[in-house]
Amino acid sequence: MKILVVEDEKKVASFIKRGLEEEGYTVELAQDGEEGLKMIEGGSYDLILMDLMLPKMDGLQVIRQMRAQSVRTPVLCLTAKDKADDIVSGLDSGSDDYLTKPFAFIELLARVRALIRRGSSERGAELTFADLRIDPVSHKVWRAQTEIDLTSKEYALLEYMMQHPNETLTRSMIAEHVWDYTFDSFTNIIDVYVNYLRKKVDRDFEKKLIHTVRGIGYVLKEG
Ligand code: CA
Repeated sequence: MKILVVEDEKKVASFIKRGLEEEGYTVELAQDGEEGLKMIEGGSYDLILMDLMLPKMDGLQVIRQMRAQSVRTPVLCLTAKDKADDIVSGLDSGSDDYLTKPFAFIELLARVRALIRRGSSERGAELTFADLRIDPVSHKVWRAQTEIDLTSKEYALLEYMMQHPNETLTRSMIAEHVWDYTFDSFTNIIDVYVNYLRKKVDRDFEKKLIHTVRGIGYVLKEG
């Protein structure tokens, strides 16, 4: 498993590198956004840890660029900023998760494991529901004949819903299965992601498939 760490603070970068190497990961470092983007374009990584405040090109720009080039590698953002706006714009740019500095290494490790596991797991047959179809191998998604472009986190959320059609999924079930966390502060992020998914999967189609169960969570169902 190869991880790219894009981080300009040398102490933080070497702390992360050392910790991840002790866990058996191969780790490469980039010190600014431009170098990071070059390495992403030239290499194949299982996960990218991306500081947001970087010289030359900031982390969000790097993520937008790589997603524009259809690089689907999961990205975990590291940010000193903890304002909701920054986090939401980070998620919107195509990152999969975020961690606010300072963080405990054990928490970083838990998220790294979750993102990598999701990136490489669930090799199986296509799942269908109504006119929605997903391919767990390529992570491609179609609604009728239209291919829908999802980030890896949006895909994971949709896949979980497709595995449990017509079942009400609570926010804590979604947090556990899609993010591997249980804490309550996470529920806002789930709502943000369901909205992203709705825009892509439902907005342009007459029949809505993702429904809110007020006060509880969400359900994938027809009508
Ligand atoms: Ca920085």
